[in-house]
Amino acid sequence: MDHLKAAIRTIPDYPKPGIQFRDVTTLLGDAGAFRAAVDAMVHPFAGKKIDCVAGIEARGFILGGAVAHQLSVGFVPVRKKGKLPYRTIGQSYELEYGVDEVEIHVDAVRPGERVLIVDDLIATGGTAEAAIRLLRQAGAEIVGCSFVIDLPDLGGARRLEALDVAVTSLVSFE
Ligand code: 5GP
Repeated sequence: MDHLKAAIRTIPDYPKPGIQFRDVTTLLGDAGAFRAAVDAMVHPFAGKKIDCVAGIEARGFILGGAVAHQLSVGFVPVRKKGKLPYRTIGQSYELEYGVDEVEIHVDAVRPGERVLIVDDLIATGGTAEAAIRLLRQAGAEIVGCSFVIDLPDLGGARRLEALDVAVTSLVSFE
């Protein structure tokens, strides 16, 4: 996975001083790295029953769309509040300062559907936890959460595993 790690650009002090932002646009722009990342995200779930992929806005749309295509299943966008045109259900989650909310359409998944959640990066796990709770509220069964990047120091993977969700990631930055 070293070639994938090398394809991710790190931007110091973005969006604020002290934060090392892991920029996956460089990986997405590298044809070989993009394909290798999507293949590696799909691999642990090949042969498992999955009904759809849910991608978290916004970079989870790019990766999740490709993963869904490769698994030959549909795609559900998990969007920030107020972006979806039809009736929605939502789940709020805490940020460092304040709260945010993610939404899906009320009919995005059917009860019992087996869903794989995809995003580019897991940090505290707050966003992915909200997506899990939201999809479970809609009756979905969460097969797993797949990320390109894990920031293990922030404990997100452990947080999701405590919700009984299998977590996979391709690279980690300490
Ligand atoms: P969490 O909710 O796990 O604390 O944060 C994860 C969410 O914030 C993901 O949707 C992810 O896209 C975004 N995020 C937080 N930090 C970074 C970062 O360094 N790089 C990228 N690409 N996304 C980040």
